[in-house]
Amino acid sequence: MRRIELFDSTLRDGEQAPGFSMNLTEKLSMARVLAELGVDVIEAGFAACSQGDFASVKAVADELKGVTVASLCRCTEKDAEIAWNALKNAEKPLLHIFIATSDLHLETKLGMTREQVVERVAATVSYAKTLCPDIEFSAEDATRSDRNFLAKVLQTALSNGASVVNMADTVGIAQPDEIEDLVRFMKSELKSANPWKLSVHCHNDLGLATANTLAAIKAGADRVDVTVNGIGERAGNAAVEEVVMALKMRPEIYDADTGANPKMLVPASRKLVMLTGCKVQANKAVVGKNAFAHEAGIHQHGMMKDRRTYEIFHPEDVGATSERIILGKHSGRHALEDRISELGIGGLDKEQLDTVFEKFKLLAETKKTVGDRDIEAIVRSEVLGVPEIYRLDKYVINSGNILSNTCNIRICRKGETYLDGFAAGEGPIDAAYNAINDALKKDAKLLDYVIESVTGGADAQGAVSVKLSVGDKTVKGYGVSVNIFEASILAYLNALNALEE
Ligand code: MN
Repeated sequence: MRRIELFDSTLRDGEQAPGFSMNLTEKLSMARVLAELGVDVIEAGFAACSQGDFASVKAVADELKGVTVASLCRCTEKDAEIAWNALKNAEKPLLHIFIATSDLHLETKLGMTREQVVERVAATVSYAKTLCPDIEFSAEDATRSDRNFLAKVLQTALSNGASVVNMADTVGIAQPDEIEDLVRFMKSELKSANPWKLSVHCHNDLGLATANTLAAIKAGADRVDVTVNGIGERAGNAAVEEVVMALKMRPEIYDADTGANPKMLVPASRKLVMLTGCKVQANKAVVGKNAFAHEAGIHQHGMMKDRRTYEIFHPEDVGATSERIILGKHSGRHALEDRISELGIGGLDKEQLDTVFEKFKLLAETKKTVGDRDIEAIVRSEVLGVPEIYRLDKYVINSGNILSNTCNIRICRKGETYLDGFAAGEGPIDAAYNAINDALKKDAKLLDYVIESVTGGADAQGAVSVKLSVGDKTVKGYGVSVNIFEASILAYLNALNALEE
């Protein structure tokens, strides 16, 4: 069986999509889970893009062993140098250099001729090779490029020291047959004195990212770009869970496998949802809430006779542990720690674990049983934990349909000063948010508010995610409580704390 390498771009292409931005701590904890999942390369960001990106690429490169860590960089010596500075402590660093090859991009975006592009690739790749032993070169918009020119550019990269050349279907326009044909063409056309690999980067604008990726594998691609939950620019990239399971399910077609541990697919998916607050659609392949749900009577009947009737693989194969209510107020710290690592949401230090355990005990006092989703919610509020500048002290909300909605609130600042606020609002939560603004003399505006119950049942916790803007800054916050007003207040304060960081 051929071994297909997974190049994971969750922290780069995925992270740059709206709603998916992560801070350094979040990126690091996601990177640890990606390493556990068993991807071959973690693209940790685009170092030259911002100081924040540089810092997170460096943090991932410094810490993670046994996995290749990459930074994207434009095709310039300056970018390559910055990316290298972020990567140089990595055990296995990879510089990922890209430039567009379609005439459309050359004319409208780059203002370069084909000759200039070839020269630039030769110069940048050969310079980058003096810095970093491993270079991947990507042709952006490859699928809308003249294939002979594309071959010339990729050959130039190979001849100047790249060990991997990648073709990006940047706008998700390609069809599986075309990708298959293109990969075969390049496999026969390109030559190198050293071992080299061909890879593809497929987008999902027509819902074909996974199909195109599999077509490329069939045609001989050695490495493929993927992201957890298929996140990425616009409609996203090929989803790692789909590619991994398709190869597992149909060896007679692909005769290929990845190094991923399928049991980590659902935990990795959950971890990403936990960090970004962006849920996966219920009917999403492999990791969706309904991926293993059988509702129709006829299906349930079949399932009871033999699971194979309606299930090609089982939830436990991909790490979808069913909700197990095992923890309550008598559960110890070890049981909790074990469950956290089983859920794949670990990566916490001792201090964070202490806090999680404390919050778990408090919750177990109110709720008889604490389920997996409850634990995830607590861990999430811990991982997203930012220094608590503002802490809720107390509040009163008046609400009804015969009086105006008002809130009195007292917030403690840095454990020292108490700030009082009072305001009315359209509803109780609006009143509370206005009261917080009044107390803190802030002009925060609510951009997005999502509330969901963490588990079912009347004693479910409410989890609130908010996004606020203050001046030109946007921050997100998260709060959990059995009282939804309090969860809302905690989420708002969590966002304001993130702003102070
Ligand atoms: Mn992309």
